[in-house]
Amino acid sequence: MAGTRSAKIGELALIEQIRHRFSSPASRSLALGIGDDCAILRPSPGSEILVTTDFTLENRHFRRDLHPAQAAGHRCLARGLSDLAAMGATPLAAFLSLALPGPMLKTAHGRSWVAEFFDGIDSLARQHRTPLAGGDTSESPADLILADIILIGSAPAGRSLRRSGARPGDVLYVTGALGGAHAELTQLLGTSRRSRAKSSEPHPHFFPHPRLEVGSALLHRRLATAAIDLSDGLSTDLTHLCESSRVRAEIDAAALPVHSLTAKLPADQALNAALNGGEDYELLFSAPAKTRVPARIAGVSITRIGQLYSRSSRKPLITLHHADGNATELKPAGWEHFTS
Ligand code: ADP
Ligand code: MG
Repeated sequence: MAGTRSAKIGELALIEQIRHRFSSPASRSLALGIGDDCAILRPSPGSEILVTTDFTLENRHFRRDLHPAQAAGHRCLARGLSDLAAMGATPLAAFLSLALPGPMLKTAHGRSWVAEFFDGIDSLARQHRTPLAGGDTSESPADLILADIILIGSAPAGRSLRRSGARPGDVLYVTGALGGAHAELTQLLGTSRRSRAKSSEPHPHFFPHPRLEVGSALLHRRLATAAIDLSDGLSTDLTHLCESSRVRAEIDAAALPVHSLTAKLPADQALNAALNGGEDYELLFSAPAKTRVPARIAGVSITRIGQLYSRSSRKPLITLHHADGNATELKPAGWEHFTS
C-alpha cells in the first residue's frame, strides 16, 4: 500500500472488508487465503499450475457511466477464468491488485461502487469455487480505476489444452453463441441510459459466462486437440489457433451459432458481430474428425463451424464460406471497444 494518510485509512478499512467478505475456510488446495504476507497454495500431486493475468482498466475495458459496478467486477474475474477454461484448467485461487481514485473511498457513492464491484467478483467466484486469496490495494495516480486480476489454476500435468495442438483434418467447434456481447454493447452505446437495457434480456456483455465446465470436460474426456477462448473475436482468435498449430481453417458462415441479441441488427452486422465482435468468452476448440463430440457439454451447446487443413501457399489462413456459395478470406479484425 502507498499513498496519503487519509487514503491509507480508507484502504485499510477496505482491505478489512475484503478480508471479512472473502475469508474462506482453508480448502484442500488453498492452505491460507487473505490476511498474511502471502497466500499458500497446495496443488495436488501430479498437477501442473497455470497462471494468467488480465488488466481491467477504466475507459478501456469498462466505463463507469455505462457499466454497473457489479458488471465491471464480474467481467474482471470472468476474463481470467475464461483463460483457465480455455486450457481446461480448474481454478485454485484469484488475486486482485486494485488501484482506486482517492476520493472514491471518501464518499458513500464511491464506497458503494467498490462494494458492488466486489459483489460482482464474489458471485462469479462462488459459482466457480474460486477463492479470492489475496491482492493489493492502492490509491490510483489518476481519477481512474485500475484492476489487475491474477488467476491460478491446475490441470493434470502435461494435459493442459494448448493453442498449438490442432492437426490438419481436425474439426472446429465453438461453445454457446457468438456476437451477443457485441450486440449488447452496440445497443448500450446507442441508448443514453444504461437502465434502458431490459433486465429480462440476456446480458452477454455485462455478465459473460466463462466456460470452465466445458474446458474441464474437454480435457478430462480427451475430446480436444487445441483450444482458445474467444476474447478478441473469432477472426482474431482463430488466427492465433491456426498460427500456433501451423494449420489453416475453412469455416461456414451459415453454421455460426449467432446470438439471439444480434437479431436486432442487419444481417451483415450480425455476422460481423459473430466474427469480429469479441468478448463473448466462448471456447473455440478442435477435435479429430473421428472423435464424437457431444451436441451439449455441461449444458452448453457445441456447434461445428468448420475444419482445419494443411497450410498451403495458395490458400488464405482462414477461408469463410458464405451462404450464397462464395468464399472469401477472413482476416483478423477483432477490435477493442474503448480505445482512446
Ligand atoms: P502487505 O503490505 O503485506 O502486502 P497488505 O496490507 O497490502 O499487506 O494486504 C493485507 C492482506 O490483504 C494480504 O493478505 C493481501 O493479499 C490482502 N489484500 C490486499 N488488497 C487486496 C485486494 N484488493 N483484494 C484481495 N486481497 C487483498
Ligand atoms: Mg500488499
